[in-house]
This record gives sequence, structure tokens and C-alpha cells, in this order.
Amino acid sequence: MVELVRNYIGGRWIESSSGETFDSYNPATEESIAPVAKSGVEDVNAAVQAAKEAYKNWRLTPAPRRGEILFRVAALLTERKEEIAHLMTQEMGKILTETRGDVQEAIDMAYYMGGEGRRMLGYTAPVEMPNKFGMALKDSVGVVGLITPWNFPVAVPSWKMLPALIAGNAVVWKPGEDTPAVSALFVKVFEDAGLPSGVLNLVTGAGETGAALVNNRDVRVISFTGSTETGLKVYSQAATMGKKVTLEMGGKNAIIVLDDANLDLAVEAITWSAYGTTGQRCTATSRLIVQKGVKSKLVEALVEKAKTLKLGNGLDESVNMGPLVNQKARDKVEKYVEIGKGEGAKLAVGGHRLDTKGYFYAPTLFTEVAREMRIAREEIFGPVLSVIEVNDLEEAVEVNNEVAYGLSSSIFTENVNAAFKAIRDLTTGIVYVNHGTTGAEIQFPFGGTRGTGNGMREAGLAGLDSFTEWKSVYVDYSGRLQRAQIDTEAVLKSE
Ligand code: ADP
Repeated sequence: MVELVRNYIGGRWIESSSGETFDSYNPATEESIAPVAKSGVEDVNAAVQAAKEAYKNWRLTPAPRRGEILFRVAALLTERKEEIAHLMTQEMGKILTETRGDVQEAIDMAYYMGGEGRRMLGYTAPVEMPNKFGMALKDSVGVVGLITPWNFPVAVPSWKMLPALIAGNAVVWKPGEDTPAVSALFVKVFEDAGLPSGVLNLVTGAGETGAALVNNRDVRVISFTGSTETGLKVYSQAATMGKKVTLEMGGKNAIIVLDDANLDLAVEAITWSAYGTTGQRCTATSRLIVQKGVKSKLVEALVEKAKTLKLGNGLDESVNMGPLVNQKARDKVEKYVEIGKGEGAKLAVGGHRLDTKGYFYAPTLFTEVAREMRIAREEIFGPVLSVIEVNDLEEAVEVNNEVAYGLSSSIFTENVNAAFKAIRDLTTGIVYVNHGTTGAEIQFPFGGTRGTGNGMREAGLAGLDSFTEWKSVYVDYSGRLQRAQIDTEAVLKSE
């Protein structure tokens, strides 16, 4: 058994106050990776207290200096990329190419937000009175709470943590309970980069630990990524305390393929977007909306391609698809495949688990899916793709837009007019043309419409919004009490 994964509170790696632990498992082998501190209210409150203390100095540290620490974080992450990627693959199953990409996003974000240390742009505008100056500044908020899932164990927290830190906030982070070990490795990078004690704190545990963070009144912002069910619970609980909340929740993302599309390109993109990370990305493609002229040919090619995918332990570089994250996730996929069959959809490939250790499930494709079926509307979060046939672009857009979620969508066409109409009419937060639904870059806002979120975005120019407050400043250098327009003349006369 390897060493206990501990909490990181006030710059110390410590056990939970109860001494209780839970285990983190490798989903490819079903073996335990490490025991992990199971944190309760007391631990969370201690972490918040440490953050509150550390915030006093951190907010006064000039932002360019804070940025230098983030640049060191980027450099250390680059050095440790392989180590972190390997542990991530062991802990949550996705293949090494993907876990390396996960770490790379945090590197990109660390450089981007490190640069914000010399921008953090506010603005000035003219004011109504003479001899008066006005400006709006981005100010820190205080202690912020981050609650994240297991599917992007380093990238998703980095979208929250790095902007929160550069803006001068102190952070308490509750990572997904399936990926605590890699989370601790990520936090170690900040410690080694010289982040002052207490500015970033880690508390490991499951739902109760997250709830304790939401319930702590000293935490002014909650940034959450996870399931819609939990996100809405967090939202309503936080609302009773007037907290600012950022939510990134479910998706039911679609790729539209028109008759004139480059099919080879579409097949590659659909396969990667639907089955990459075993379908467990918020931006994964789970619906294929295809124009009728090209449907048979496309389905045939996708079925052939799915059969060539090699499943196995993600540490093996020849493997294309790892396991689902845990038994609960596989049970959910199996339940939805039964629902799909019951609804009358036709299984074209897959539809079964692998007869080995680990939570493996074959890449699965349903055809004859009607748009009102549950498999066409509900998030499955596994390697299951539903094919819906449509007559034209207009119908395709309608099918794309009618689901409860609105994260990512994509269109394959060689017709520039159709592409621009789709860009105009698709109502998702992210739109791709001739590219799958995954692969967001950190310099653009990330997030979704409708049930995917609550109107907030992460990354890009929106990245600081969750973690800053506007402070409007007026400086009157007239030396007199200026009250109204009428005073303007008096001041000007006396000049
Ligand atoms: P998933 O299982 O897909 O990761 P969840 O929404 O269950 O999605 O989990 C996302 C994060 O929310 C995890 O860190 C989890 O521990 C946390 N969480 C679960 N329940 C609650 C809750 N009631 N309050 C706060 N956080 C929670």
C-alpha cells in the first residue's frame, strides 16, 4: 500500500481530524492506489480558516509577483508532466495521450493567467464633474471554494485555481473523490513553486466534504464542475447564503454531418469525440445528427472504425480507449443501453462490457434513434453515440438546439454558407466547424447555455469573472463639495 493521500491545510500535509480514510482505485485493474484522508466539516473549516489568514498578505502581494509564482507552476508542471500523466491514467483510466493533454491545459492556463498578473485590466471613463477622476478596478473576493470532478483532474481545477490565485484570492479545493492522489500531486507543484502557505488548501473527500465547503459562510464564491443534479443542489444551497456560484454541468453534444462533408475527416473526428476519454468528457459527442444522403455510408465507416479501437489499460501506449471511471459509471451506461434498446433504437456496434477486470465497455453506436428518445436527450457519460437522421441543415440545427443542455456542437460541411448559418443558429456555448466537439483552448471562454450552466464562463477573457469583484473608484480633486451639474459652472468659474 502506498502512502496516505493527505489534506494540505495552511502549508502542512495532514490527516483528517477523524483519522478516517477511503480508498482511491485504478479502474483498469480494480486495485487500490492509495488510502485517502476523508475530510469532514472540521477539516474543511480549518482549511477555510487557513485560507482566510493567508488571504491577508496574498491580496497585498503585487499581481506581477503572483504571476511569477504561476510561471514557476507552469515550468514545474512541464517538468513533471509525465509523472502526473501516469498517475492520472492509473487513477481515472484515460489513456496517456489524453492525460498528457490534461496536464498541458494546466500549463497553458498557468502561462495565460501568469500574464494576467501584468494586465488584470480595469478601465477609466470620463466623469460628470470637473476635477474628478473615475476608474473601475478588478478586486479579489476573499476565500473561494472549488469543487471539481474526476474526468479532467488537473485541467478543470486549473481553470478555476489559476485565475482565482492571480486575482489575489485564497483557495480551498475539494477534488473529485475518484482522483485524490493526482490532485495532491498537482497541489505539490504549487507548494514547490513557492506559493505561500494557506493560499491554496486541499481537502479530500466525497459529497459531504463538498457540502461543508458550500456551507461555510467565509467562502464567498463557489466554482463547481460536475453533474447537473449536484450542481443544482450546490446552487440552491449557496443561494441561501447569497454566494456567487459558477456552474459547469452536463452536456448532450452533437456533431452535424451534411451530405457534402469530407467523410474521412468526419469519421476521425466523430470517433475521437465520442469515444475519447471513454465518452466521459463534458464536451464528448453523444449525438450524431446526419443528413439522410450520407447516413448509411457514414454509419458503416463509423462501425468499422469502432471495431478497430483497442481497449485496455491506458498506460499501454497502443491502447485507444481506457475503462469507465468506476462501477457506478459502467452501471449507468448499461442502464442507458437497455433503455435505448427498449425505445426501439438499433444497436449497430458495441453494447456490452468486456469480460475482463476493470470497468471496460465497448464503443457503442445506436442507429434509428428518434429525437424524443431518452438516449437522444439525457447525458450518459460513456462511449455511446446515437445517430439521428435529418433532412436538411434547418432540421439539424433544430435537433441540436432542442435538448436541455448547450455546451458544445459541431458541423461538418464543405459549404461556407451552411457553416456560417450554423455558427449563427447553434445555441451552444462552443461551436466547431469541421472539428469534433472537444478540444477547447484556454484563451477562449468555456461553458454552456441552458442546463449546462448558470450563464458564467471559465477561461479566456471571462476567466477572471468568477473570482473578481468590480470596484468603482472616484477621486475628486476639486477641493470642494461637488453635488450637481449646477456646481460645474461654479468650479469652472473659479479655475
Ligand atoms: P461526478 O460523479 O460526475 O463527478 P458529481 O456532481 O457527483 O459528479 O461530483 C462533482 C463534485 O461534486 C465532486 O467533487 C463531488 O464530491 C462533489 N459533490 C457531490 N455531492 C455534493 C454536494 N452535495 N455538495 C457539494 N459537493 C458535492
